[in-house]
Amino acid sequence: MNSHTTHKRTAARGKVSQNTDTAVHSNAPRAAQTASGLDKLFEAELKDIYWAEKALLKAIPKMIRNCSSESLQDTLDNHLDETKVQVMRLEKAFDLIGMKAEGKKCEAMTGLIKEAEETMSEFQKGPIRDAAIIASAQKVEHYEIASYGTLCAFAKSLGIEKVAELFHQTLMEEKGADTRLSLIGETSVNVHAGSEAGLKRKRA
Ligand code: FE
Ligand code: FE
Ligand code: ZN
Ligand code: FE
Repeated sequence: MNSHTTHKRTAARGKVSQNTDTAVHSNAPRAAQTASGLDKLFEAELKDIYWAEKALLKAIPKMIRNCSSESLQDTLDNHLDETKVQVMRLEKAFDLIGMKAEGKKCEAMTGLIKEAEETMSEFQKGPIRDAAIIASAQKVEHYEIASYGTLCAFAKSLGIEKVAELFHQTLMEEKGADTRLSLIGETSVNVHAGSEAGLKRKRA
């Protein structure tokens, strides 16, 4: 566990934590303790989003297959390509901090994907299912926006600017995807979904 970090402090922390008693009541300066704590939190967040992005590489194609709207399909297709690049950026980030790329199961993304699959199966293929896909996809984007915003801030605090820049690039892509999804909802999908619902109400 202590083999994979570049930060000098981590080596010291590793030694301390072997002795659990002194780990808590360490004489190390307070600032150093705080910084090495942030190291650990940063690594945990990085592993989490790495797992989440890789899960999305499998989940987005399923969403694409369920779309009826061509513009929604194109947007998700484009974001799938971006996601592949984002996974590579994360691998580069791991590399820059001297860690091997390793994911840790993200329970939140697992839940978001499960909900997306459930909702898709509850509505027939067409404008309503498309609206459901947009809703699910935007929940995913918002989770990612929060994660990359946090990672970017942590990387800056830790003084690893190159890594922060990688997260910032991805953050902009996630925000772009979110905006495009909103636009498709407002300009086409929800309009059709609304008129379909209206028709059903008249028939009833
Ligand atoms: Fe992503
Ligand atoms: Fe997570
Ligand atoms: Zn940033
Ligand atoms: Fe995304």
